[in-house]
Amino acid sequence: MRSPGVQAALDLLGAVGRGLRPRKLRYFVLVFLPLALVIGLGAWYLRQTDDDLAMVRLQAAQELAVGLGVNALTRHLDTVNRDLRYVASEESLRVLLNEGSPIALGHLTLDFIAFSDAARFYDQIRWIDETGLERVRVDRVAGKAVVIPAERLQNKGTRYFFTDTMALNPGQVFVSPLDLNIEGDAIERPYKPMLRLATPVVDAAGKRRGIVILNYLGRTMLDEFASAVGRLSDDIQLLNGDGYWLMSRDPADEWGFMFKQPLTLGNRYPEVWAQLRTADQGQLHTSSGLWTWRTLYPLKSGEVSSTGAAEAAGPSQGRMHQDNYLWKAVSRVHPRQLTAHGAETATRYGIIAAILIGIMAVVSWLLATSLAERAKARELLERFANTDGLTGLGNHRFFMDQLKQQWYLFQRHTELPVGILMIDLDHFKGINDGHGHAVGDMVLQHVSRILCASLRQIDTAGRIGGEEFCVLLRGSDLDGVRVFAERFRRQLETEPVIVGYLQITVTASCGGSTFLSTDTIPAAAMQRADAALYRAKAAGRNRVELAEVSV
Ligand code: GH3
Ligand code: MG
Ligand code: MG
Repeated sequence: MRSPGVQAALDLLGAVGRGLRPRKLRYFVLVFLPLALVIGLGAWYLRQTDDDLAMVRLQAAQELAVGLGVNALTRHLDTVNRDLRYVASEESLRVLLNEGSPIALGHLTLDFIAFSDAARFYDQIRWIDETGLERVRVDRVAGKAVVIPAERLQNKGTRYFFTDTMALNPGQVFVSPLDLNIEGDAIERPYKPMLRLATPVVDAAGKRRGIVILNYLGRTMLDEFASAVGRLSDDIQLLNGDGYWLMSRDPADEWGFMFKQPLTLGNRYPEVWAQLRTADQGQLHTSSGLWTWRTLYPLKSGEVSSTGAAEAAGPSQGRMHQDNYLWKAVSRVHPRQLTAHGAETATRYGIIAAILIGIMAVVSWLLATSLAERAKARELLERFANTDGLTGLGNHRFFMDQLKQQWYLFQRHTELPVGILMIDLDHFKGINDGHGHAVGDMVLQHVSRILCASLRQIDTAGRIGGEEFCVLLRGSDLDGVRVFAERFRRQLETEPVIVGYLQITVTASCGGSTFLSTDTIPAAAMQRADAALYRAKAAGRNRVELAEVSV
């Protein structure tokens, strides 16, 4: 036994194969189309909402990502700043600047070592005197603080960070650009991102005595920047104010300014950079993806920087102040990631909609089948109610309905005559008695066949009694009724009923009339026809009589 759903689906396929029965198909279309439309629209709307929601979530996540990144950077910068002020105010340094004794030099060296071990992310901690000569220098080598001996100390008098810091007032801080460390004359490999914070120092007499400088290992900060963003963004970038990458997903893009390479966001995505450059923070959806950014100003008030220099001894190209020393934390969501999500929701809702529409198709087909069967049954019932079972002609009820309708029509168009003919078989009882009821029935069928053959399309015939028939002749006046009746009467008379070896000749008496404009009920014309029929019987049967009155 198949389940009803499967059966319906098979029926549907079968029907499609056979060419759908029009009524069933019509019901199916009427039920199914609106349902499918509602489901389709619903799925489309939900998908749209889902996509919008996902976009909002993604945007919020990206904003959170760059926010976390900026926080991580700020935290590190604050720490370095605080450390610099602390180192510059060390008692041992004060003593050294005022007394210049070797013991004081030793104390300062010890303090630098202790500080280097405590902080662990300073590549160099130095005091450089006013001539540019390194006087105390503690480097971090393989995780250890190492004191650089006097013979290896260098003169840094021409480096931008020295000259720029020396130009500051005591208490002011110089922050270098975040760039790659230069050792000797070449960029150190592997690259060592470096941020130098320096401040001038003075002795008790107020005389400028050089600078204290911290070389901060930028990798710590950059790594923390990347890990703070964590799983919120898989393409997090850090740009400097000129659009060069300090950090990028592709390391080959980084530090372009150190190598005089035009590797900037502005060169690669000019339309994105145009927005990024002008707004401190924002979000931009372009063909290259969803871009989210936030600007960070590493300088605090009282701090200055310079453009730095790519060459080891290159001159500084000018001071930078708080507003133009900036970094941009940028997160990018690639277009394929965005479309991947859209395609995924489209598929998900597409499948759901397809399943629902499939179910609805089966349900609609079941419903259409039931509706079509019901309509068919109703039609059949109607036909049974109106048809005479023996002859297939309309029955009394049907004929009277037709008569009434024709009557209403005649009331409005009396110029169009309507003829009525009543027919009664002669001595029919004798046929029944002589040959049996079954033969009588065959005679009735024979008569109705002859009657139907002579009818026009617009005429209606009915069996209104046992062996009585009535015909409605539209457009026929009394003459027309007579012609019709005579033709029928003669045909009946000349075509006997053949039952086996029997030949039974049947005759009929006919009474004709027409609707009159003076009639008040449709039955009036019937009564006149009946009276004429009575006269025909009385006059000897097998003849046609008409009502006296003509239209
Ligand atoms: P007349 O010429 O005066 O009309 O005589 P008649 O015998 O035709 O008229 P009458 O009304 O006396 O008889 C009608 C007969 O028709 C009576 C009835 O048994 C028969 N009859 C009525 N309905 C049917 C039917 O469905 N089948 C058959 N076989 N006979 C029927
Ligand atoms: Mg009769
Ligand atoms: Mg009769």
